[in-house]
Amino acid sequence: MAKVIIIGAGGVGTVVAHKCAQHPEVFSEIVIASRTRSKCDAVAAAIGKPNVTTDTVDADSVEQLCELFRRHKPAMVINVALPYQDLTIMDACLECGVNYLDTANYEPRDVAHFEYSWQWAYRERFEKAGLTAILGCGFDPGVSGVFTAYAAKHYFSAMETLDIVDCNAGNHGKAFATNFNPEINIREITQNGRYYKEGKWVVTKPLEFHRTLSYPNIGPRESYLLYHEELESLVLNFPTIKQARFWMTFGQEYLTHLRVIQDIGMARIDEVEYNGQKIVPLQFLKAVLPNPQDLGKNYHGETSIGCRISGKDKEGKPLTYYIYNNCSHEEAYKETGMQAVSYTTGVPAMCGAMMFLTGKWNKPGVHNVEEFDPDPFLTAVAENGLPWHEELNGDLEL
Ligand code: NDP
Repeated sequence: MAKVIIIGAGGVGTVVAHKCAQHPEVFSEIVIASRTRSKCDAVAAAIGKPNVTTDTVDADSVEQLCELFRRHKPAMVINVALPYQDLTIMDACLECGVNYLDTANYEPRDVAHFEYSWQWAYRERFEKAGLTAILGCGFDPGVSGVFTAYAAKHYFSAMETLDIVDCNAGNHGKAFATNFNPEINIREITQNGRYYKEGKWVVTKPLEFHRTLSYPNIGPRESYLLYHEELESLVLNFPTIKQARFWMTFGQEYLTHLRVIQDIGMARIDEVEYNGQKIVPLQFLKAVLPNPQDLGKNYHGETSIGCRISGKDKEGKPLTYYIYNNCSHEEAYKETGMQAVSYTTGVPAMCGAMMFLTGKWNKPGVHNVEEFDPDPFLTAVAENGLPWHEELNGDLEL
């Protein structure tokens, strides 16, 4: 029985709060805290349980975070605000003795750069303080890393290639919308692509490489090679991997809008002067785009995210392995009021916190999810709305 604070009351925070509230035997008290308290209040009201309360915090301020932590004395903080707040929240955790979990690696605001070095630099301090920090515990990063650890534990003596494949075959009926925070999403997609080959990182132009991949229960979809943060830790933690890539599907309509947004300068993350005021075009764009939290109502179809792995099995024979989850937007909405992208992120975040609080993933230091035992986590993920499936020796298409 433990108290947790969830920071962030967006699409993902809403799902985390709903899912934690379903397990009072683990999460005896839940505080939802964010910059805009009315959003936290709305989530708490929708859940309607006396052990779910709200508070306010600007998570850019270590001082405010420490005040929040001292007021509530949580065992763990589940950080589902934005990646910009990761380091301030980790600093406050160290100062106040709170364990930490997030779903996205730290990014500085002024440069869209994805790497774990900033957070890995906290390893020794968390270890010395006897605190656990679990990094990247959404779906991808998150379940994608645990799927890989599960494959290594149960099937492979040496994994050689890893392709993480992420398909959203849902339709929300809008001309253009992003499925999670638009600013974070557009920063990620408009970057150069990058993949790992024979010990080196190969850089590609944004969305330069694509191919048609078939997804279970969905069919063929054009899939684009992107850089994704979990590749960095997975190739270090599983050094037999010779090639690691990440693929995501996009429709033509989405890509056309994205190109126009970039061509007209609306994806810029530097400040511009407008009417005597400084604005960041991408932040302004976020203000006028549909709110990802409001997409759920008319969202149909499903997501399919998984890992396609090849290598040698435990006897040294060639093996291909595909492990994936499909998640329905309609079902996610019925349960939490949010679409499947928020749902597939929020369920694993709750499960990661549950693993820590029940002593299964309690390891002082700063860790990526694949460093823990995958079995109890994947059991919890399946029991909490994200069942997964395996295919051995099928065609990986890659
Ligand atoms: P939203 O934009 O919907 O929500 C973000 C929330 O954080 C809002 O409640 C916002 O409050 C709050 N917030 C922002 N800045 C601060 C601050 N300084 N102090 C306190 N609260 C703040 O985002 P999502 O819910 O879509 O995404 C949340 C996180 O999940 C992101 O980091 C995203 O990268 C990650 N994610 C991870 C995935 C994975 O599979 N690993 C997939 C999808 C998302 P306010 O409304 O006041 O701005």
